[in-house]
Amino acid sequence: MNAELLDQLTGSTEAHLQNCGDGVQLHKDVVAPWRALCSDAREDGIELAIASGFRSCERQRAIWQAKALGQRPLLDRDGQPLNIYELTPSQLLHAIMRWSAIPGASRHHWGTDIDIFDASAVDESYQLQLVPEEYAEGGPFARMNQWLDERIECGFAHGFYRPYSDDLGGVAPEPWHLSYRPVSEQYLLAFTPAVFRVWLSQQDWLLADIALEQSDSLYEKFIAV
Ligand SMILES: [Zn+2]
Repeated sequence: MNAELLDQLTGSTEAHLQNCGDGVQLHKDVVAPWRALCSDAREDGIELAIASGFRSCERQRAIWQAKALGQRPLLDRDGQPLNIYELTPSQLLHAIMRWSAIPGASRHHWGTDIDIFDASAVDESYQLQLVPEEYAEGGPFARMNQWLDERIECGFAHGFYRPYSDDLGGVAPEPWHLSYRPVSEQYLLAFTPAVFRVWLSQQDWLLADIALEQSDSLYEKFIAV
């Protein structure tokens, strides 16, 4: 694999990105389809907004380390806080991965994936939590969620889809997470189990050694979704 592609896959470069306003960066081929989706939404009274677009490997590493050290809350399947000191290293690894990707293995590194909400449904002081309740029936973003469901199902979502829509036991379902398939599927194809294994063997963040031991099963469960 050439170095440039590996850097893009692992969030180690920003050369493939374009500024999309409000400090958000996206892959340059994703900006136009994103704007088209926003324009469709606006016609239906929905103001699509990005909470998180591109995220660097360095940023993901900081999130990872904070969770592994218990400096950021770690939640179980039901959203209840876990005590990290009661977990084996392997359990801790899996618990973090349910909500946070391994540094270098986040779809947000590619610039093709975004976390979104409906800015017209809340006021500016609203503290976005990115929890399922906000997107479910009765939540502020239920209407946007349903609008997207219909669009994606009919193939009118300009190439966007939800990679984490079902709970397969790995990554928790994330109704707020959208991916631009025409580009992200190319990255996913390039990010093979072998690339993942070699990447892990070069890392020094907490639990990287355990992740390396389990690289093939982690790949199946968390990456090849
Ligand atoms: Zn996301």
